[in-house]
Amino acid sequence: MRILLVEDETRLAEALEQILKHAGYIVDLADDGAIGLDMAETGIYDVIILDRMLPNMEGVDILKRLRKAQIKTPVIFLTAKDTIPNRVEGLDAGADDYLIKPFSKDELLARLRALVRRPELQADNELRIGALYLDSSSCMAAIGDEKIKLSLTEAQLLELLMRNKGRVLTKELILDKIWGFGKDVEISNVELYIFYLRKKVPLEKAGLAIHTVRGIGYSLKEA
Ligand code: CA
Repeated sequence: MRILLVEDETRLAEALEQILKHAGYIVDLADDGAIGLDMAETGIYDVIILDRMLPNMEGVDILKRLRKAQIKTPVIFLTAKDTIPNRVEGLDAGADDYLIKPFSKDELLARLRALVRRPELQADNELRIGALYLDSSSCMAAIGDEKIKLSLTEAQLLELLMRNKGRVLTKELILDKIWGFGKDVEISNVELYIFYLRKKVPLEKAGLAIHTVRGIGYSLKEA
């Protein structure tokens, strides 16, 4: 799960980043509205937490631009002003939820869980496809009784493949989702980590395989 946090108050942004990372999310931070919009437009995020008052572009304007561009990433709007017009404005612009500052850590995490709740999700970070199980928060995979300890990157990659089972993921998308937008990482890293994952996790025992789609990317499918 990758979250974009657009918040210009440094202390609050850093505190939120720590809370979210501790809860097992991958977090990218933007402290400026225009930069936040650029990052959000990549479409690589699972949730965007968007402050209302930002330098260079306000939260509501970012949200309107995203929705106009058909980017439907769930957005939680942060607002300091507890007034009805402000809330309505945020929701009208396409926000999925809003939080009024100051809010508690538990409230933020609960709202996030509600937004990203999906049927295959048993707990926050647990996924299962047949005999294949992954707990991404502890980087522990299992096939039946056989437990496999993964590195953080391997666990994130397996989570991405499991959540998109049957879909072809391009190497570029994997790179952006795992290593982050604009980071100085080569596409060969994706190939390397797919190699590690295939070697470490005996997917065939769960009737699964990571298929290579030549020149494009990878797909987790029934073997
Ligand atoms: Ca602000």
